Amino acid sequence: MSAPLHRVSVALPLPIRQSFTYLVPEGEAPPAPGTRVRVPFAERALTGVVLAESPGAAPGTERAILEILDDEPVCPPELLSTARRVAERFFASTGEVLKSALPARLPATGAVQYRITDKGLLGARPSSPEERAILERLASGEAARVAELPGEGRARREALRRLEEDGRVRPVAGARLRAPRVELAWVAAALSAAQRDESLGRSRRGREVLDYLVALGRPATSAEIRLSTGAGTTLLRSLEAKGLVRSFEEERRDLRAGRSESQTATASTFTPTPAQAAALDAITSAIRERRYFPALLQGVTGSGKTEVYLRAIRAALDAGRGAIWLVPEISLTPVFARELRRQFPDRAAVLHSALSERERAEAWDRVRSGEALAVIGPRSAAFAPVADPGLFVVDEEHDASYKQRESPRYDAREVVALRAKENASALVFGSATPSAEAFHAAEVGRVARLTLPERIASRPLPEVRIVDLRREPALPEEKGVPLFSRPLVERLRDVFARGEQAILLQPRRGFAPFLLCRDCGHDFRCDQCSVARTVHDHGRRLVCHYCGKGVPKPARCPECGGGLLEAIGAGTERVAERFASLFPGVTSVVLDRDSARRRGAAAVIEDFQSGRAACLIGTQMVAKGHDFPNVTAVGVLSADTLLHFPDFRSAEKTFQLLAQVAGRAGRGDAPGTVHVQTFHPEHPAIQLAARHDAEAFEMQELAFRRTFFYPPFSELAAILVSSPRRERAEAAAADIGTALRAMGRSRPGVAPRGELRISGPAPAPLERLQGRWRFQILVRAGDRRAVLGALEASVPDRPPAGVQIAVDVDPQDLM
Ligand code: ADP
Ligand code: ZN
Repeated sequence: MSAPLHRVSVALPLPIRQSFTYLVPEGEAPPAPGTRVRVPFAERALTGVVLAESPGAAPGTERAILEILDDEPVCPPELLSTARRVAERFFASTGEVLKSALPARLPATGAVQYRITDKGLLGARPSSPEERAILERLASGEAARVAELPGEGRARREALRRLEEDGRVRPVAGARLRAPRVELAWVAAALSAAQRDESLGRSRRGREVLDYLVALGRPATSAEIRLSTGAGTTLLRSLEAKGLVRSFEEERRDLRAGRSESQTATASTFTPTPAQAAALDAITSAIRERRYFPALLQGVTGSGKTEVYLRAIRAALDAGRGAIWLVPEISLTPVFARELRRQFPDRAAVLHSALSERERAEAWDRVRSGEALAVIGPRSAAFAPVADPGLFVVDEEHDASYKQRESPRYDAREVVALRAKENASALVFGSATPSAEAFHAAEVGRVARLTLPERIASRPLPEVRIVDLRREPALPEEKGVPLFSRPLVERLRDVFARGEQAILLQPRRGFAPFLLCRDCGHDFRCDQCSVARTVHDHGRRLVCHYCGKGVPKPARCPECGGGLLEAIGAGTERVAERFASLFPGVTSVVLDRDSARRRGAAAVIEDFQSGRAACLIGTQMVAKGHDFPNVTAVGVLSADTLLHFPDFRSAEKTFQLLAQVAGRAGRGDAPGTVHVQTFHPEHPAIQLAARHDAEAFEMQELAFRRTFFYPPFSELAAILVSSPRRERAEAAAADIGTALRAMGRSRPGVAPRGELRISGPAPAPLERLQGRWRFQILVRAGDRRAVLGALEASVPDRPPAGVQIAVDVDPQDLM
């Protein structure tokens, strides 16, 4: 014990808001901040990230690091400090935030690898079992990193040192993770439809892949096929074995493209409109001058926002800086990624959920090394390690998917805002229907307002007709709630007759929202959650949308034995069924969470984009930024579903959904129409969406938020206390409530800014979920510090036995 011991603080991926101190193994230099380490924690070993060197603390109690995984930090300092600030801001654990930020299987960086020597292969077997195990692992001749070798900690290091001294292994400098230069591509074999049918048998998944490849008419890589159809290599191999597809290796598309296109790939050939030019000018000068420039880019649907993003990205790259472009859900808008790749072939990285862990790590590595400078991706891409980012774009800024609903509950919009300030970058929040928060920030001048007031080529916004469902006759089986109104049916007939396309929105998936016993009123609730189960499979199954548990539909009511069970209302499945009977011969496809899971959203969208289907029926997913020029009609079958949600944002969400889906119509040369069916034709969210008047809606919404002290006029946090035992959850919530109220009283003199407003505890709107009883407390104050301080003082570090406490700062939904 001569050399001084070093200590480092380590962030661990646990829902605990603290870091842990570990000793650095004797004789090793303390790992730099951002380096990953394996450490013992209770009975487990965990991978954490070093935050900083700790000053010599109280001796004795700390345990030692088991393994230092990287030779150089995987997490750049800028990201490390962003992660810490994000954790603080959202009352989350830094270790969990870092875990969300870093790809799960990121290989070690710059780590030394070991290779076996001839002596190691041919020499006498070593006596120690550790050494033997290591040689066996290396016997194939491939190099391996320390962490990949058998054994652990000091024993493994000692064994390696002896083998090295013996000349049986030798270290080789670690190489950067390199993407393979070739990738597998697949093409449909030339067969007749009959031959295909015979070989396919009943493989539905196989048919989807084949349909996709045939429609594509060119080879597709494994990654493309996975993204479009969800099919993996195993399925492809089995199709190959049946002679249905052929595979071959081809040079990676990005490498190929990099060579052939990088000189020619250019911006689109449009001349920007004056409004686009003005917005671009403001953004690009900030990028060049290294000025923090937050802006709201507000432009109606089809006004050319995407074009502004792409040109701003080009400006960032031209200035030698990087760019991050966030989109709500990349599988729904694959064209954006395609366009980014086309324009910046060798410098773009696409992050999406269909990537394998290896591909994700590869992409991260390309970005971290500076090879890729333009990143597009969903929420998690906010953390992409772009060096010197000059631009952050948040497309469809109002979308709730930017907030993570599970721990760590961070908001990607805040992540990029922090990074933009830190890096003196332009920060562009784009939307046709800005959130109240963004709108308010522009109103008070905290962010610049850039406006694209009209559609490209002065195309008119679609005419919106509100259809009062109270005046529409229903079919006998519809029990007074008509599904398709007469004006909508007439319009659709016309559209399909002219070979145009339509989108129908029904914000519920499944066949019907619930099953009802006509004799006793039983509604078949989930036995684990306090909601009625949804009817699926054309009435054959009942599924809980909250826990996913499904049961076959019973023949009789379990309460009264009655046999008159009726599916009430309609989901996408029933709409598709009715559509087929109303419009025989017109092909439709359904886009919702169920079809996305079965086929992949991109495959469904491809069916519609290519014109194979004339009608796209779906949930909210059909409203997201798609650009389908042939769509001339949109029908909203029921605009009321979202209005009834017990959430202060329900009117705003309704407005946004209606305005967004309306924006899908008439984007090509033919003008579009929208029919909105509702029982509340006079509701302002519906009226103003019909007039495409985001301005008027948000002014009204802000007045409401101000009166009732909701964000952006307050900082809001929701504390959710849950337990399988109702009384335990209730008691723990009561304790927190008491602590919060005591705080409020103990500081009577504080300024209103710091004043707390506590609501609850009360049963959450969804009172029981997956067998757990849930109680909710809302904490509001005029300022963020007051809310965080109140949480700090009232939420226990360790919840009582059997109880879970989840804190959601700035929650996007309050179920
Ligand atoms: P938004 O993102 O605002 O909905 P897009 O960027 O998708 O709008 O633009 C709508 C359509 O107009 C797209 O097909 C796009 O290619 C085209 N477009 C955009 N800018 C221009 C321009 N300056 N001149 C001509 N066409 C344009
Ligand atoms: Zn359930």
